[in-house]
This record gives sequence, C-alpha cells and structure tokens, in this order.
Amino acid sequence: MKEVRTRFAPSPTGYMHIGNLRSGLYAYLFAKHNHGKFLLRIEDTDQERFIEGATELIYRTLKDVGMNWDEGPDIGGAFGPYVQSERKSLYLPYAEQLIKSGHAYRCFCTKEELDARRAAATAKGETFKYDKHCLAMSEAEQQRRMAEGQPYVIRQNVPTEGTTSFTDLIFGTITVNNSELDDNVLIKADGMPTYNFANVVDDHLMAITHVMRGMEYLASTPKYNLLYEAFGWEIPQYIHMTPIMRDAQHKLSKRDGDASYADFIDKGYLKEALLNYVALLGWNPGDEREFFTLQELCGAFDVSGMSKSPAIFDVNKLTWMNAEYIRRLTPEAFTAHARPWYKKAGVDGMDEDVLCRILQPRVEYFADLPDRVDFLTALPDYDIELFTNKKSKTDAAVSAQVLDMVIPALEGLSDWSETALHDLLIGMAEAQGMKNGTLLWPVRIAMAGKTVTPGGAIEIALLLGKAETLRRLKLGREKLC
Ligand code: GLU
Repeated sequence: MKEVRTRFAPSPTGYMHIGNLRSGLYAYLFAKHNHGKFLLRIEDTDQERFIEGATELIYRTLKDVGMNWDEGPDIGGAFGPYVQSERKSLYLPYAEQLIKSGHAYRCFCTKEELDARRAAATAKGETFKYDKHCLAMSEAEQQRRMAEGQPYVIRQNVPTEGTTSFTDLIFGTITVNNSELDDNVLIKADGMPTYNFANVVDDHLMAITHVMRGMEYLASTPKYNLLYEAFGWEIPQYIHMTPIMRDAQHKLSKRDGDASYADFIDKGYLKEALLNYVALLGWNPGDEREFFTLQELCGAFDVSGMSKSPAIFDVNKLTWMNAEYIRRLTPEAFTAHARPWYKKAGVDGMDEDVLCRILQPRVEYFADLPDRVDFLTALPDYDIELFTNKKSKTDAAVSAQVLDMVIPALEGLSDWSETALHDLLIGMAEAQGMKNGTLLWPVRIAMAGKTVTPGGAIEIALLLGKAETLRRLKLGREKLC
C-alpha cells in the first residue's frame, strides 16, 4: 500500500484556533496511526493578511503539544519549499497549462465591471456567478492587453453542464451540478495563487494521499476534482471535518474569546489536557475511554470514530478533564506549574509542600488558584456571624472562649511545625472535652475570614507563620468582644 501522507496547512493568522488545532491533530493522528508522514505547509498566499510572528506561533503550538511534523518549512523535505509564498513561481506554469487545455482562461474584467454585474444580478434576485465574459476573448486581444500591462486573473473554466462527484470518507459520495459552480480565480492579479488553486497543486506535488480539512471546503471540492482531472492527476482521499460549535447554533469563533489554544494555556490549562479534550471534539474511540496521551491517540485514532455531526465545545467538560490532569501530576510537577501563579497570588514565599497539599486536589486550572488563596495575603473583612456554626457547635461566646485559650498557647509554641501545631490544638480540644471542630472552627475563621478555605486550621497556620497567625487570631478575638 502507498505510504499515507497528510498535511496540516494553516494560514498564519497569528492565532491558533481550537478548530485549527483539531484539524492539525486529526491529520497528525491519521498519518501516525497509519505509519505515514505528517507535513506542515504554511498557506500564506494572502499577503495582505501577513502577521509578524504568526508562523512561529504555529511552530511553537505544534511543538508544545508534541505534534512533530516529518516535513515542513523549517526542516525541509523532498517536496519543499513548504511555504506557499516561496512556491509562487511554480503555480503560473500549471495555470498556463490549463489555459492551453481549455480548463482555464485569462480574465481582464475590472473590479468596477464585476461589481456592476454583481449589483445587477442582486437587483434581479440572482446570485452572481462569473459569466465567462472573458472566455471568448481572442488570443491576439489577450496578448495585446497583456503587452499593455493590463492586470488580469486566471479563472477556472468550469463546465456548464453535467455533474461532478467526489467521495468523502466520512460523508460518502457527493454530487453537484456543474452549473452551480463558479469560475473561481486560480491566479490573482499579483501572480499569487488562490487557495482554490494552490491547495490542488500543492497537495498533488507533495504527494498527499488524504486531504483532511474543515467542512467549509466541502462545497468547493468538486471544483478541485475538476482541476485534478484536467491535469490527469490522481485524486486524493477526502476527509472533511465537522465544525466545532459553541452551542447548537453558533460556531466557536475567535470573537467569542477563549477559542484559541494560547488563551487556555494562559489561563493555566495543561497542554496535555487541552490536546486530549480537543481530540474528542469530533472523534471517539468507540468505547468508554476518555483519557489519552498523544501516543495513545495515535494508536486509537481511526476515521470510523469520526463524527458526522458538529462537536460542541464544552468548557466545563474541558475544565473537569483539566482538573483530573492536575490531580494526576506529581507534587513536584504541580509545584512547577503553580509557581508563577503563587507569585501572582502573592503566596510565593509560603511553604510549597503545604500549598500543594491543599491546592492540588482543588485547583481546576491554574488561573483559578489566586482566588482560592486570596485570604492568605489579605485577611478579608468578615462578619462575626461566621464564628457561629451549628455543626461545629460554635457561636460567638464559644469562639471567644476558644481563642482566649488558643492565643496564649500558640504564643508559647516555639516549634511552628505541623506536628507541634496538631498536638497542641488537638490536645487542647481533648483536655477540654471539646469536639475538634469546636476548637478548630473559630481558629480557622479568625485566620481566614471566610468559611470555605482550601486546607484546615493547621495548614493555614503553617502557611501564615506564627506572627501573622497570632495577629489574625487577636483581631478575631477583638471582634468578639
Ligand atoms: N489554509 C487553509 C485554512 O487555514 C487550509 C485548508 C486546508 O487544510 O486545505 O483554512
């Protein structure tokens, strides 16, 4: 069997949309599952949209998640160059070949002329399709205009009759009437190919066996097949992927924010979790498994698991999955990830082991960490009502009594360690015949100023240190007077 070759062909937009990443991932997984090659091609023929650093962002993202390409702009390969603007000179001869065989023609219509005809069509309630106006122009006339330097484009000459069919591995055979197809521009006035032309030429020259791309290209695929046929080239297999939706009606879009890989990484989502979640947006393994490494995905991925219906991007599901990944980190790895966030939260001088112990089970993505520990850096202004808690059997009076005992005892404690704090506080509750909770509740409220905290009284005391703990306990006691 022929070696499978797929490609990821992003345009450098300066933004790695989740949907884009998913397209690249599926192309990667399909190639790797079939022991084939995965290519990276940069589609930058739209020079007006050039964005500084956009190509680097693509490299960085793919490398970050481990989707290494076998051929591409930076590493080369037998079918380079892999950046379309660097291939510019290569497309024109192919377009001219099509002119010769009657499958394409030069079009000198100006923008004003086209606009006027489009407006006239719209006025009649028709959708404008290029009317082959220049198809009949004589060769001599074309040469004359070219010699004059008149700008022109090259258009595909789509048959006006008959039908064109193609087969998609997910959607089956699709047939369209040629009369519905437009004579697309293949080469623009600046000599650059359009996507409509470059994708065909490049996929052929790069020996791509499986073209995997978004559904938005499904409707144009018949035109691409007409081009393959005009050249006498072998038609690749097509795999069109359903869109990723924000909800039943709306595509996940850049405008909604949060649609890019970088947005999630910036919020402290783990790349492994993100990749895992993205892999499940339009594919499932056919069983109950949900957690996959990239390597495991390579083994499990198959077109038969790809969905025909759009996938819904559910940020809650992603967050749940991310929290699972966070919990599975080693304490060292957790701390390494958490450190920048500790700094942001202002708790970077505190005991990392204790922070890890209280936060790792709770943090769902790292940007939610600062809010969880905000009370450590600044005691919130709280109400004394918080000292009252039925379950712990405490109220203001009991709390005052507890703090009166605890404050001097802690002042006398020289070893501010977990064991010493534990022995002292639990020993004191026992000696008083109190529930542990009755003693620990007021201590924790006074230290944290809130009822829900990650970690208990002892952990919070360890993080705050002796001086700050005592300061807060005394403040609490004063409130209770
Ligand atoms: N450059 C196109 C895009 O970013 C690629 C489409 C394709 O994979 O053929 O949408």
